[in-house]
Amino acid sequence: MENVSVKPGSGFLRWFSESPLPPEAEKTSETLASHADRELLERISDFLLGNRLEVSQANLLTAHAAFSGAVVGLARTISAKVAAGEKITQSMMDHYAVSALPGKSEELDSLAAKVERTLAVFEHTSSSAKKSTKEYGEVLHAQASNLSANLTHDLVLQNLVEITKTMIERTDRIEKEMERSEKEASSLRASLEKARREADLDHLTGLANRRAFEGVFESQYRIAQSEIEPLSVAFCDIDHFKSINDKHGHDTGDRVIQSIAQALTRISDDKCHVARHGGEEFVLLFRGISLDEAWQKLDDTRKQFAARKLINRLTDEPIGHVTFSAGIANVFAFDDRREALRAADLALYKAKDSGRNCIVKA
Ligand code: GH3
Ligand code: MG
Ligand code: MG
Repeated sequence: MENVSVKPGSGFLRWFSESPLPPEAEKTSETLASHADRELLERISDFLLGNRLEVSQANLLTAHAAFSGAVVGLARTISAKVAAGEKITQSMMDHYAVSALPGKSEELDSLAAKVERTLAVFEHTSSSAKKSTKEYGEVLHAQASNLSANLTHDLVLQNLVEITKTMIERTDRIEKEMERSEKEASSLRASLEKARREADLDHLTGLANRRAFEGVFESQYRIAQSEIEPLSVAFCDIDHFKSINDKHGHDTGDRVIQSIAQALTRISDDKCHVARHGGEEFVLLFRGISLDEAWQKLDDTRKQFAARKLINRLTDEPIGHVTFSAGIANVFAFDDRREALRAADLALYKAKDSGRNCIVKA
């Protein structure tokens, strides 16, 4: 496949240079929304056609994930390749497609929602059935007492008493079965909650994953807004991580990711949240401190980590100094959370451009 350069002024380049919307598009929110949709479609089609990529479902999904900003890291990876004049091949798209796919946790969530709905319906039915059988049992019980007390010699009525007793035993049994089913339902719900908690965790580092982070970001944003507190978001990315993998192997690379996760966890508390955003990228939220203070905290961690000399524990081979770069943004200086995240990501890009091992404010 030949390398096709993207012409200046095409939708693709316009997106990466973040050009403002034309004034006529600012008239109404409806115009704004449809303009944004058109822009997005234009970017996707410019990108696919410009790179002679097949307009397949998988390519559309990947391009959408990148250009809509749904997967920030992917957008940056693609923009870096384009800026470096590299062609975007189908095999690259196949590789990127993995990060554009909805995660297992999303699937679990929709499954859990279905089970939750089923359980709620079942619990409701079960408790109303239980209530009515209880009432029925009480009525029968009262009838049986009357019959056995006043009409003991009438054989027909004695039979009726027996039948009534059988009915009472039966309703008792049904009641017990329903109680057992209710217990099963609540234990199923507890298992689902556990599975959901695990789905929010990144298994390599034990940190919250990207999906969980999105929820945390939403709630921290709301709290910060209502408490009138500052909120900053930072994106961190390990420097030259590919060469660590190449030199020492993927397992050692994994342990480096774990060490950085531990270093970042040390600054986390109820107002500072750390998550693994993907690969060797982390995202942090700082609530209740200024952008400068948040920058300082992260920069202290950066310095401390960069001063350490890492050793490959399996081979005793020195890995040496490992550094990371970051971009940090004051969330409320931007229109919304997504814009703030994008600004932090662009600042990270600048940190990489200016030599790495530094934190740049958006
Ligand atoms: P830069 O300083 O520009 O960030 O350079 P880099 O080499 O770190 O480049 P980039 O961020 O593009 O590379 C990330 C690499 O991280 C690519 C991928 O193979 C590797 N990676 C992603 N996830 C994992 C993981 O879970 N474990 C390991 N060992 N490697 C991973
Ligand atoms: Mg990276
Ligand atoms: Mg990196």
